[in-house]
Amino acid sequence: MLQPLQLIQPTTVQEASQALADYGDKATFYAGGAELLLLMRNGLIDAEVLIDVKQIPRLHRVELIGDSLRIGACVTHHALATSALAHEHAASLAYAESQVANIRVRNQGTLGGNLAFNDPHSDPGTVLLIHDASVTIGNAKGERRLALDEFFVDMYATALEAGELLLEVTIPSLPAGMSSAYLRLHRYQRPTLGVAAAALFAEGIIAEARLAVGCIGPKALRLTELEGKLKGVTLSEAKRIVAEEKKYLRGLLQPVDDLLGGADYKLYMAGVMLGDALEQAS
Ligand SMILES: Cc1cc2nc3c(=O)[nH]c(=O)nc-3n(C[C@H](O)[C@H](O)[C@H](O)COP(=O)(O)OP(=O)(O)OC[C@H]3O[C@@H](n4cnc5c(N)ncnc54)[C@H](O)[C@@H]3O)c2cc1C
Repeated sequence: MLQPLQLIQPTTVQEASQALADYGDKATFYAGGAELLLLMRNGLIDAEVLIDVKQIPRLHRVELIGDSLRIGACVTHHALATSALAHEHAASLAYAESQVANIRVRNQGTLGGNLAFNDPHSDPGTVLLIHDASVTIGNAKGERRLALDEFFVDMYATALEAGELLLEVTIPSLPAGMSSAYLRLHRYQRPTLGVAAAALFAEGIIAEARLAVGCIGPKALRLTELEGKLKGVTLSEAKRIVAEEKKYLRGLLQPVDDLLGGADYKLYMAGVMLGDALEQAS
């Protein structure tokens, strides 16, 4: 059972960051609480003070700035799954968000909480990688921007430093003519495997491809070396190439056998689903 908690509700990034500095290890940032309260109930996090970041208006914006969609950290999965802007400028992200868990978690959980927690079994990060998304993070002293693949450091680890908040995610539109797809495999609510692909075809030949895989390694990753091998080939050749790249995928993703399936099964399915995602994006 949870002990009584103190709730602080700052309305600016500076106040939130200062509150964390004031309370130190006793405090933690709290957004939707979907992960946090579960961890606290199970005794895995011991916080006495919750700093609720949802009262900071800036973290709720969804807006188009030039060619990029900018999403505040406290925007919920459900808001993104149903956002006209997200559907128009990052359709695969909107789809991935609609697949997160169930309506309760989608209403409660936020994009920022999802990325900041960096659970390997997550959906949005994989799609965001094929958009070359970046994140803005900040504290009372200032802000900095990082590519998402630098923000994801390892399983449950990000580049956030003590007192830093994830503020927003910037998602550049895909190049003109490029389509994308996100596919997930799941036995339970969280995904066992998620793959994202984007491709630009010119007269039946791939001019540019982007691929990312999530869930079967410690963090979601772009497959840049494999992407290079798909330039100049047809869709059917590309599907054969990705299906045959198990050694490369094993080295990069380091899958393990677990209750969700054996490492060989996950690698096999990653190859098949990347090919299917490329086809859907063609
Ligand atoms: C039953 C269940 C099923 C789920 N299934 C899926 C699924 O299918 N796909 C999927 O992608 N996810 C899934 N999730 C994860 C869910 O999407 C995340 O729990 C949620 O997005 C986390 O967001 P939150 O706002 O609830 O974060 P919280 O629980 O409030 O916080 C999570 C962590 O992030 C930190 N944090 C939160 N916001 C910020 C911020 N702005 N800056 C810095 N740190 C911050 C908190 O301090 C905490 O450590 C599932 C979760 C549950 C409980």
